[in-house]
Amino acid sequence: MSRWTYARIDRVDASVVHCVFCNRPLRSGRLIVLSDQDGKEVYAGKSCAAKHLGPPTEQLLDLSKIALLAILDAKPTPVDKPSVSRAKTERALAVIGSSLPMDEPTLYLLLRRQYLVGFAGNMTQRLRDICNAQDASGKLADDERRYVERLLLNAEKDNSIYSLANAQRCVGAAYWLRLAIAETKPERREFLEKMLASLCENWRLTAKQLDAVNRWGEGVRKTLPAFPVLYPGLFDGVISPRSNR
Ligand SMILES: [Zn+2]
Repeated sequence: MSRWTYARIDRVDASVVHCVFCNRPLRSGRLIVLSDQDGKEVYAGKSCAAKHLGPPTEQLLDLSKIALLAILDAKPTPVDKPSVSRAKTERALAVIGSSLPMDEPTLYLLLRRQYLVGFAGNMTQRLRDICNAQDASGKLADDERRYVERLLLNAEKDNSIYSLANAQRCVGAAYWLRLAIAETKPERREFLEKMLASLCENWRLTAKQLDAVNRWGEGVRKTLPAFPVLYPGLFDGVISPRSNR
């Protein structure tokens, strides 16, 4: 039996990582992240993961899809030419990705506790208690599920920064900002770091801020041609409630 289990579907854009099974370089696009009991993470190609582990037994988060939500034009880039082997691995990934759609309360809790770390008030005491109970019992109890569902319903109705849709926009925007920071010389990162801090503080960026990030992106594309144009209207109409839920 493999020591690895599925952690999530993710993407790689700037660096080259290698498949833990066949050592093939994985340069861009969607890939599988696996982890072992100690939390060590490795990458795997899609078909290798399917071959060695079979389909996942738990619901998988697809960070790759979430990152694309923040992009103006999410069509594949020209370097992403289809090929027979790509079609095969895409099919393998489709099996992995679609076999277990994650229910909304579970997805929301996962985003807030793991992928929105550093965002202001990402965990309230109540959400922390719910996650602890979920960890202890291995599932989300009915009462707790209802609480999260109600929270999501209200946030959606108000179009608040704490809605599931906006939590995903935040994860997506933070992904591209962190990538831009990594692609920028340390002494020139101040602007991007300010934008990331503003996103984390407010759970949104203004269209003006996103336009400014896109102007910066023109420079990033000199070293990383696939760096996308972010959607300037990404957070339009999203409301910040006065009290933190
Ligand atoms: Zn492989």
